Amino acid sequence: MFDAVIIGAGPAGISAGLYLKRANKNVLILYHGESQLEKAHKIDNFYGFPLGITGKDLYINGIHQAVNLGIQVRDLEVLSIQMNEKMECTIRTSEEEFHSKVVILATGNKKLRPNIKGIAEFEGSGVSYCAICDGFFYRKKNVVVIGSGTYAISEATELKNVTPNVTILTNGKELNGTTDIPIITKEIKEIVGEGKVSGVKFMDDTTLDVNGVFIALGEAGGVDFAKKLGIYMEKDNIVVDENMRTNIPGIYACGNVVGGLLQINKAAYEGAKAGLDAVKYINEKR
Ligand SMILES: Cc1cc2nc3c(=O)[nH]c(=O)nc-3n(C[C@H](O)[C@H](O)[C@H](O)COP(=O)(O)OP(=O)(O)OC[C@H]3O[C@@H](n4cnc5c(N)ncnc54)[C@H](O)[C@@H]3O)c2cc1C
Repeated sequence: MFDAVIIGAGPAGISAGLYLKRANKNVLILYHGESQLEKAHKIDNFYGFPLGITGKDLYINGIHQAVNLGIQVRDLEVLSIQMNEKMECTIRTSEEEFHSKVVILATGNKKLRPNIKGIAEFEGSGVSYCAICDGFFYRKKNVVVIGSGTYAISEATELKNVTPNVTILTNGKELNGTTDIPIITKEIKEIVGEGKVSGVKFMDDTTLDVNGVFIALGEAGGVDFAKKLGIYMEKDNIVVDENMRTNIPGIYACGNVVGGLLQINKAAYEGAKAGLDAVKYINEKR
């Protein structure tokens, strides 16, 4: 059992890890997929780099700093988080499961919505971002999951609990993984329906009749985990208090995933806040 599992190795996640580890806590940091920081060509507004630094170098430096301190940092995609009645968390990844007293969501912000006509229009009327939250409404109905990675397979597998009629739509991409769930790789033109979703139209002008469309692009982000855990959200941001606590004890969020100023300084500050408060929480829980 870890004291804390941190999802994200950007400035928020690494800062949280440094404060936890220096308080002698047993910490695991998981990362997978691109950080916003890696995309930054050159950073000139962060303290201590007179000639600037590339985002990629700063990101890698952060990971090395955590590893040098003795923190386990692993490249594993997190697929889901569950909490039991003792308020302990199980973090399921693409390869193995971990157990922890605290989870810190430092996954950055992602664009959740694919650029497909009709997606925005039908959100809440057939388009969903959470299989475990909304799957129940589609018992024995036809549903599709749009995505091409492990997360899409995980969401489709979740939906198989409520309906046998699940198809994965990769929208022109190769599926990254294996499953016995049917797959359609054709490119999608639009989501169609009147008032609610009735089908998915492909670029070749054929239409698949569906009642529900679930979006699962790339990796699941903090927002996806938050929705599934029942964490309060405001628009696409996780709601936290001044110590980066969410409404669920033991679950913290920091950095871009909580919105506000989307900058490294603020992400690192919030990571420190989350790490320090998590130390107190873990000590009280003993
Ligand atoms: C082009 C560009 C230029 C920028 N320039 C600047 C600048 O000059 N100055 C500045 O201050 N800020 C800049 N920023 C913003 C800055 O990069 C972000 O504010 C900062 O990186 C946010 O940190 P974070 O830790 O919240 O998230 P991120 O840095 O985005 O890190 C997110 C982490 O979560 C991990 N993750 C996500 N989902 C999963 C999952 N399911 N499983 C496992 N791991 C997961 C990722 O692998 C990553 O490690 C720039 C951003 C961009 C895109």
